[in-house]
Amino acid sequence: MALSQQAFEKFFRDIRDFIWSELDAYEGEIESTGRIPTDKLFPQLRRMRCFGLLVPEANGGIGLSISQYLPILAEFSKIHGGIRVIVHVHNMTAKAINHLGTDEQKRTLLPRIATGEISVAFALTEPEAGSGRDIKSRAVRDGDDFILTGQKHLITNSDFATHFMVFCHTAPERGSEWMSALLVDRDTPGFTIADMPPLMGCRGGQHGHLTFRGARVPARNVLGQEGQGLLQMTASLEVSRLFIAATSLGTAERALELSLAFAKKRVTFGKPIAERQAVQTYLANMATDVYALRTMIGEAARKADQGRRISAESSMCKLFGLEAVGRVTDQALLVHGGVGYTQMYPLERLYRDARLNWLEEGTPTIQRMVIAKSFLDGYEWAPPWPEGGGDGHGC
Ligand SMILES: Cc1cc2nc3c(=O)[nH]c(=O)nc-3n(C[C@H](O)[C@H](O)[C@H](O)COP(=O)(O)OP(=O)(O)OC[C@H]3O[C@@H](n4cnc5c(N)ncnc54)[C@H](O)[C@@H]3O)c2cc1C
Repeated sequence: MALSQQAFEKFFRDIRDFIWSELDAYEGEIESTGRIPTDKLFPQLRRMRCFGLLVPEANGGIGLSISQYLPILAEFSKIHGGIRVIVHVHNMTAKAINHLGTDEQKRTLLPRIATGEISVAFALTEPEAGSGRDIKSRAVRDGDDFILTGQKHLITNSDFATHFMVFCHTAPERGSEWMSALLVDRDTPGFTIADMPPLMGCRGGQHGHLTFRGARVPARNVLGQEGQGLLQMTASLEVSRLFIAATSLGTAERALELSLAFAKKRVTFGKPIAERQAVQTYLANMATDVYALRTMIGEAARKADQGRRISAESSMCKLFGLEAVGRVTDQALLVHGGVGYTQMYPLERLYRDARLNWLEEGTPTIQRMVIAKSFLDGYEWAPPWPEGGGDGHGC
């Protein structure tokens, strides 16, 4: 699934213009009120078809490939982390439903997801458990329904999502790997949502606490096949970790752009600081991190678009990305000096927004565990260059 190169270039130009001319203006309002003006924002996102970026054209979406989606997500992460998470979580959950759902589920859900009529959220993390097979939420079969009990927290888009993709155990006697993903309607009796305290960055949206007390969910709402939840979760996170790496890239690029402009403008001791070797070192380090991250993401995305697994690569991109954006925003702060710590420049917000990248889709420790286990299990990756090496000149 991909747009033609020509169609994509036009779409990318249009969406970039839209982001900078219409959405960038919300930054001040969101930061000062702590609220995203969804009444204004959502019609704009619908107009630009941002809820269907990864939904196939046949189901009413734009049908971007992963390589085409990443630069768009990176662009959103430049202007505001709170807006970026709305777009990210909806599209990554839509992609998971497209990948995992039955034909009937895709036919009925995806066209409404693509327009934003159905808004979807991804509910894995629990307050009393780790991620993955350690989760405690349970759903017990009762006739044509499942009775769901458990809690989730830190769930993005909980303030407006109409449906939640909830991971839970559906047959404890079959072992911890027998998990399922249920699509749970927000209005289900026995399902309540509470707000959580405000965030360090990516402000404005809610990341709520979900409680299921005997919530009755129709068995037809099991996404794909019952018992396949662990595989579904792994597949979803594999791609989504690349999305977080692209978020790190966008934030790092913006911090670099701001730093280049600032370094040329700020004069100390009679010269722009851009002429000082120490400042150039910061800028060179930042540019190198941006280039390395962009290159590795591009390579992993191409593999994913070819239908190849990227289990180790996506964790490597996510891990390198969060460390790179950490270094870049640290050095951008040093280029800006004291004013960088104030809200005079977007850098202060980028610095806070970026720190979510440490956590979304798993901590650095979890990425290292995935990478190491992949290679210990004999993971083989195809090198990006042709068999036999390059032009023979070596180095
Ligand atoms: C703003 C925000 C939005 C989020 N949105 C969503 C969402 O939409 N959906 C969703 O499902 N989740 C969401 N999350 C949750 C996020 O994915 C988790 O916070 C993250 O994966 C870390 O898990 P945890 O909070 O349970 O930390 P913990 O697992 O409690 O980790 C705490 C520390 O212990 C370490 N640790 C934990 N287990 C091990 C282990 N086995 N070995 C070694 N070290 C370990 C971790 O690396 C970390 O350093 C969101 C989080 C935030 C902050």
